[in-house]
This record gives sequence, C-alpha cells and structure tokens, in this order.
Amino acid sequence: MKLGILGTGQLAMMLAEAAIEEGLQVATWGVKTCEPLEHICETHYGQDFADSKALQAFIDSVDVLTFDTENTPIDALAKVNLGGKLLPSTQALTIFQDRNEEKAYLNSQGIATAVYYYISENKHLATAAETVGFPAILKTSQDGYDGKGQAVVKNLAELTQAWENLKHAPCVLEQMVNFIEEISIVCARDQKGHMAFFPVSVNTHQHGQLILSLVNGQHPLQALAQSIAKTVVEDLNYVGCLAVEFFVVGDTLLVNEVAPRVHNSGHWTLNASDASQFAMHVKAVCGKDINQPKVQTPAAMVNCISNMPEANEFTEHSFYNVYDYGKTARPMRKLGHINVSANGQSEQAFYQHVAKALIAINEPALAKNLPSL
Ligand code: AMP
Repeated sequence: MKLGILGTGQLAMMLAEAAIEEGLQVATWGVKTCEPLEHICETHYGQDFADSKALQAFIDSVDVLTFDTENTPIDALAKVNLGGKLLPSTQALTIFQDRNEEKAYLNSQGIATAVYYYISENKHLATAAETVGFPAILKTSQDGYDGKGQAVVKNLAELTQAWENLKHAPCVLEQMVNFIEEISIVCARDQKGHMAFFPVSVNTHQHGQLILSLVNGQHPLQALAQSIAKTVVEDLNYVGCLAVEFFVVGDTLLVNEVAPRVHNSGHWTLNASDASQFAMHVKAVCGKDINQPKVQTPAAMVNCISNMPEANEFTEHSFYNVYDYGKTARPMRKLGHINVSANGQSEQAFYQHVAKALIAINEPALAKNLPSL
C-alpha cells in the first residue's frame, strides 16, 4: 500500500517515518523544497496546487491520501478526482481551515468557543467591536498559524487599523480570553469507528507559538476534553488524528482551535507512548485498527524555535530525545523539538530535565516558572 502525503513539513516527515515503520510505501507532494524528506521517501517537490494535472498524477499513484496542514487548498482538491482516497475528509478540511466555519460548526455542536464576530466588510467593524468587546484578537479566518495573521486590539481605532494591516482579509474578532492555562488533546479514530485518546497536555505559548507541552496523565479536565473531541470525530465520521486546543476557564473549556491532523502538542507521543500520534494517524487512514495507547507520564516536549541547541548536550541521557527537522534556521521557525520522558525518574528529577531543555532553548524564565503538573 502506498500513502501519499500532501505537504513537506516536519509533520509530513514524521508521518512518513511512521508509515515506513508500518511497512508502507510513502510519497510526499508539496510546494516547498527545503525539507529533508528525500532521504526517507519518494518526494515530489516544487509542486504547485494550481497544477491540477500534476496533482492528479500524484493522487493516481497512491492508494491513500492525507495531508500535513489544514491550509491544504480545497479549491485545488475540488478540481481533481480524489477517488475517495483523502482522509481526513474534505469536509473536515473545509471546516477546520477557516476560523469562522470552525467556530460556527463547534457552536452548532453545542461546543463553546470564545465570543467572536466574522468581519468581511468595513461595515462589520463596529458591530464586531460591540459584540466582542475589548481587548480582543483579530485573526485572519484562513491561512494563519503560529500566531501569524493576528493582532491584539484594545479599541475600535486599533481594530480598524489592524484590519487595514491585514489587507481587509476576512477575519474573526475574538474576545481575549482570560484563561487559567491552555491544554490540548490529540485523539484518533479509525475506519471502523474505534477511538483512542492521548492524555491532555498543558501548553505554554509565546508570541502565538507553542514552546512547551507537559503531560501528567491525570488532568482534571481530561474527561471533558475527551468528550468534546469525541463529539467532533463522531459527528464528522472522522478518520485520522485530530487535535483540539482549549482555553481552561474556571472548571470548563473553550475550544480555541481544532487541527484535522497530528499536532505539535502531541510530539511527546514519539517517546512516551507505545504508539505515537503519527503511527495512529497512518494506521487509521490506511484502514488498520487502532488501540488505546499505553503512555508513560510525566512527559514533556520543548520546541526548538529559531535555532537548535547542541544535540550532544542531551545525547548521554536516555530521558532526552532530540529531533532535528534538518531545516535552515530562520527567526521564529520551528527547527526541532526535545522530548523529555519520565524513564522512572522522580518527578523532581523530571522537572529538572525539562528545565535544562528550556535553558538550552534560551527560555530561562520558563525554566524557573515551570507550570506545575
Ligand atoms: P491561535 O493561532 O489561534 O492558536 O493562537 C495562538 C495563541 O495565541 C494561543 O495559543 C493563545 O496563547 C493566544 N490566543 C489566541 N487566541 C486567544 C484568545 N481569544 N484569548 C487569549 N489568548 C489567545
């Protein structure tokens, strides 16, 4: 069986590695040419989604098709014959690649989000301000990730200016949520409807980018997070991994975002689970059964952004696993991550090792103030 992956980022790479481990053939297809995927699988680089002929040829050459980003263009997919090969479905992709569609869908399922207002014309600005209040966050409805295409606004004048800066792109204005913490859950559903849920991770972001995920396996809102994710995957007859990011407000949850794919906050599963999120996704989309994974907690993941620390700082310790995506360093670019596993250490020792990883990525303040598990 041959799995085709639309996308050439690190998520595609880790999916490809998992697929190869499952004994599958893999081919990736994408616009970018900078990822080191060619060392592990068949690659089709420099491809443009506008080239329907090339896209069709790729789809015809694989048995199952998946993607590594929700920003995969739907209009390009509509112009080719997918032959029923795409999983997760175009329906899921359509909903979760657009913040307005996503929030409307979630609310229609009785799932709470921050108060928001869709802005597509100048005349919506005043009503949006009135409905949402300030401070608020203006976000482009499509194509934003890692805090890109977002602006915090404190009044109508700033909102108007921010919308100008975003070139009048369709946006959502979102209430600024005063959350206790941010958490996420990664789940998977296979073609027979079996579901599996990883433990919730507590996530720390900076400048809109994930820096740290901590997992203790006993978060008090695990059951609620799980039931929200279950509602979505069952309603959409979803197949593959899906991640839901939440704001914790009091003892309840508001959904921030849903990603119809494997997720950065699930990278810890590469070392602290008997099946990683990548293996689960590959199994599910390729028609294999999935099981509830056995995980070892506590576990953590620290993102390496802008530069990679010296790997040899960590190699002598079995509780560290350093992943270098082989990408050219650029400010704010995710270049790799460090997983910290429990490996029988005391909780105190585990925290010290997480702190060491945070110091290595130049986050000493975070190392000092690690959120408690
Ligand atoms: P997003 O790209 O929507 O996931 O936003 C990136 C990060 O910005 C989130 O993980 C939060 O840390 C922060 N953020 C986004 N939206 C809000 C909001 N409505 N209220 C408070 N913080 C937010």
